[in-house]
Amino acid sequence: MIAKSSYNRLCPICSSDSWEIVLPLAATPLGDRLSDSFDKASSLPKYALDLALCSECGHAFLPLVVAPEESYGDYFFETSDSPGLSDSMQRLAQQLWQNRSDSSSTYVLDIGSNDGTWLQHFKNLGADVLGIEPSPRHAQKATARGVETINGYFSIQSASEIRKKFGAPSLITANFVTANVPDLNNFFQGLKDLSDDNTTIAILSGYHPDQFRVNMIDFIYHEHVSYFSCQDFINLGEKFGLDLVDIRRVGLKGGSIQAIFRTKSSRTSVSGDVGRLAQYEEWIGIRTLGWYAAIHDRIKQAQSLTHKLLDQVKAKKIVGYGVSHSVTTLIYQFDLHQRITVLTDDNPRRQGKFSPGSGLTVISPQKAVDDLFDTVIIMAWQHDRLIKNRLKKMNYSGSVIQPLPFAELIVLGK
Ligand SMILES: [Zn+2]
Repeated sequence: MIAKSSYNRLCPICSSDSWEIVLPLAATPLGDRLSDSFDKASSLPKYALDLALCSECGHAFLPLVVAPEESYGDYFFETSDSPGLSDSMQRLAQQLWQNRSDSSSTYVLDIGSNDGTWLQHFKNLGADVLGIEPSPRHAQKATARGVETINGYFSIQSASEIRKKFGAPSLITANFVTANVPDLNNFFQGLKDLSDDNTTIAILSGYHPDQFRVNMIDFIYHEHVSYFSCQDFINLGEKFGLDLVDIRRVGLKGGSIQAIFRTKSSRTSVSGDVGRLAQYEEWIGIRTLGWYAAIHDRIKQAQSLTHKLLDQVKAKKIVGYGVSHSVTTLIYQFDLHQRITVLTDDNPRRQGKFSPGSGLTVISPQKAVDDLFDTVIIMAWQHDRLIKNRLKKMNYSGSVIQPLPFAELIVLGK
């Protein structure tokens, strides 16, 4: 943990400077920076990765924000990269489309629209779509496939330009981007400015009460500067003239929520699920120090057991399965960068690259089997079923260790 003066942030929801570190994690480089050479990869700077809890409003956030241009210049993740995302997202898109308040309007805006995969679903349903996306490469790719995309960040200013040019959308979506927004006040004011009383705002975000319950601390990385609860969304709505009218838990990414907002002036009735989820959060104590201390203890246990298991199977040539932001957090937090020999990933675009900081080469899964690696660590454990099936199909016969949710030795079976 570093001195408090080295952090650069107040609570992004209530602006309080009264917060404390509740989950100190190992410092890492930006987790998605794959490099073309070992030298480049290993010289990337590391930044503190500590989770703070606001003593005033109970929001969990990173008190250190790395400048957005550093983390978004050329990020690697594309929506179509993530296994299984597309089908579930298609179902969510259909629900939103059917439930929009003004069915005569067909205009959908997506914030952080990535390569346009999500908006393509709406286009197929008959929507007029518009995306806004900070990565130039992704924005170009989306536009090239026929999804009109503005290259930039969503803010009060871009909201005003969009409203002037295109009017108020019937539906505004933001999937897994709100956690990455350093200035939440600016973002939510932009949402309010852009909406009229017929606009539905649907925010999809990781839900840390569910994720941390299964020890998914590797969802914490530098780009995720906020960790939202139902109560956080109620508080944000209150501040900006929006009502959180519905909230749903969604099984994506080990636990997510979909928060539905309408303007206060639309006088939309609020679903009982909102109060119920906020009550649940109170009961399990997500705004208490003890809740985080217990997570910290469980992580330490899983780390120490992972190393014990590696010793037990006499692991020498170790391959880590998975390359992502989360894997970077896990490699450093579990102190595995010295033990792992190479990484492997199913995505050919990641193969041949070098992992951030640790400089581990990324090879194909087949090469890991051919080169007789004696131990696989399932780093991308959120996809453990998929990975175990892959290993079985390739007749992998070495040891398999899964570090989380609880460290264990895996028997692949027939
Ligand atoms: Zn606060």
